[in-house]
Amino acid sequence: MKCSFCSNRAIYCYKGRCYCEKHFVEYFEKKFVNTIEKYNLIQKGEYIGVAVSGGKDSIAMLYLFNKYKEKWKIDICGLVIDEGIKGYRDILLNYLKNFCKKENIKLEVVSYKELFGYSLDEVVKLLREKSVNIHPCTICGIWRRYGINKASKDLGFDKLATAHNTNDEAQSIIMNFFANNMINMARLGVKTGIRELKEYFVQRIKPFYFHFEKESRIYCLIKGFNPPLVECPYIVGALRDKVRRKLYELEYKYPGLNENVVKNFLKISEKFKKYAFEYLKISLNLCKICGEPTSRDICKACEVKQFLDKLSRQ
Ligand code: SF4
Ligand code: ZN
Repeated sequence: MKCSFCSNRAIYCYKGRCYCEKHFVEYFEKKFVNTIEKYNLIQKGEYIGVAVSGGKDSIAMLYLFNKYKEKWKIDICGLVIDEGIKGYRDILLNYLKNFCKKENIKLEVVSYKELFGYSLDEVVKLLREKSVNIHPCTICGIWRRYGINKASKDLGFDKLATAHNTNDEAQSIIMNFFANNMINMARLGVKTGIRELKEYFVQRIKPFYFHFEKESRIYCLIKGFNPPLVECPYIVGALRDKVRRKLYELEYKYPGLNENVVKNFLKISEKFKKYAFEYLKISLNLCKICGEPTSRDICKACEVKQFLDKLSRQ
């Protein structure tokens, strides 16, 4: 197969267009720049936090922000949450630190251990010892959301960019429908956040919203970025993993399905934001323990920590 733009061999095709290496890089980078400019995701002079996991999507995004930061006159900083998972996070962290050093990018690391007093490995050990049946992802998800927002405020980020792509977003949309979670729906979309609540929640932006997971893989391959291929040992049995596998299967049979889920969701996403704002306007409190925003007396992150402290004393 030939590239649609020159006579070189194509390495990637989507919806009737094929790209050689050179034109694929152009296509990938242009989509990143266009998403940022079309949706007004950043403003001149802003300090942008870039959430990095160490996976291919986040490495590609960090690299691109660094490449284009002069064009947009912004400052950037990588932010990684260290859950404390041996054989996974330590390996990726090591790669990330070397990558950032080589590319001359600032990197901040915030760990569950320093925020909550437990690494995720310690949480899992405790739950197993006490025969408590809670999936690690449930706790990890609550602590990550909390940690990312708190660290972004503490570090003074104007916005936080995450590397969620079309595949991730389609999974989240489906999962939130399953869980009937209308407030979480407001966190989806190319940019999240409600202007009136910006002192509590740092706005998230998703410049890879229209990229596919396989595209980041190809981009990293061409650029020679090789983050270690490690998977979190706790993902097994998580609902996201099942939804992810199912959506891949369906995409294979019905190409374009993930993109349709995301694009259709965008047409109604403002309604979820409005609903979430009305809900939070009347229910927003500050947690009695940590002072972070919550709709309860004590935030979910502190509630989990209290539960674990109690469990470890039993
Ligand atoms: Fe956390 Fe689950 Fe992701 Fe592992 S798979 S990092 S436990 S959310
Ligand atoms: Zn709290």
